[in-house]
Amino acid sequence: MPAPVYLDHAATTPVRAEVLAAMEPFYGPKFGNPSSIHRWGREARAALDDARERVAAALGASADEIAFTSGGTECDNLAILGSWRLLREKGKRAVVTTPIEHKAILAAMHHAHHEGAEERLLAVDGSGLVREESFDALVRDDVAICSVMWVNNEIGTVQPIGALAERAKSRGVLFHTDAVQAFGHIPLSAKTAAFDILSLSGHKIGAPKGIGAIYIRRGTFVEPLQFGGSQNRGVRPGTENVAAAVALARAAELAVEELETEMPKIRAMRDELQRELETRLPDAVVHASGAPRAPHILNISVPGTDSESMLMALDMSGVACSSGSACQSGAVDPSHVLEAIGVPRELAIAAVRMSLGSLTTPACVERVVQLFPALISKARRLAGVVS
Ligand SMILES: *Cc1c(COP(=O)(O)O)cnc(C)c1O
Repeated sequence: MPAPVYLDHAATTPVRAEVLAAMEPFYGPKFGNPSSIHRWGREARAALDDARERVAAALGASADEIAFTSGGTECDNLAILGSWRLLREKGKRAVVTTPIEHKAILAAMHHAHHEGAEERLLAVDGSGLVREESFDALVRDDVAICSVMWVNNEIGTVQPIGALAERAKSRGVLFHTDAVQAFGHIPLSAKTAAFDILSLSGHKIGAPKGIGAIYIRRGTFVEPLQFGGSQNRGVRPGTENVAAAVALARAAELAVEELETEMPKIRAMRDELQRELETRLPDAVVHASGAPRAPHILNISVPGTDSESMLMALDMSGVACSSGSACQSGAVDPSHVLEAIGVPRELAIAAVRMSLGSLTTPACVERVVQLFPALISKARRLAGVVS
């Protein structure tokens, strides 16, 4: 059997060797608590401050605008609930987002609703792009926070975050973006886009699971969700995970350094994979293929099949893919993202997401090109559909 093929980088990525090497001393001799005043503490503090500087630099931000968190989910919750709880005191009454967000945003928005917020969902087109007229109608000055993800994790759609952030700002509305799938995949900077808050997760870019960073623009405030010490400017109390922060800094730095060399290769492989599958499967539908798309995501549905059977058949042949958001795998419900962009149920239940990354080579693409159509034919025969 050939080597297994991992095409699920949007779910998680392997920790990079450079990242592991950078964090290792902090599980050994450099174990100090960064809040301690002795030499062990000072050593940890210096490493943490340095990590914060480097994450900031990777985002075009300043160190005082960065707080480390446990990951993307926590950043998203802090952004939404932290803004809502602060701004409801100032008379704001609504929160706005899109129907294609990650569950971390949708569930946090829903929680804000339980706390009295009016929840408004922006209309999106068939590729998931936010409709301008909907934005203008819903993002009014009574909104506490508007959150639009930069890159969609299921279909790869890239939103015009710079333009949306400007429009929100012109109405006096705070703007957050979940950039977990954008960072390291497309160029982005706090210098060129006017978002107020941004979420980042380590394990999608070669750092370990359980570390993330939230960017909060200078002059913007959120209420903390936890209470304790003054670590991370009080935004996120608790003794910092120094090793993981160092890891995130190294991974973020590498992602930015390599963006221009690596992403064109990833995009070329993704486009090749798409072209070959479309040629071999003329009735296949590639979701959001007409929209600006991040380089690493391909989401394809072939009528007459279903995601779960395809994922199992692929796995048996050594190929790891997903049906969309990892949290939904195992469930038969079609993806909320595909539903929101108007994909018919028959196609939505057949979606297979392939996400490329550091483990992807042209040989992986070739393998899937050979294998996928054969598995589709088999699935269709089993389902009684003539192919
Ligand atoms: C993975 C992901 C998250 C959640 O990040 P965690 O670090 O796993 O909590 C949030 N948003 C998007 C778009 C993601 O892909």
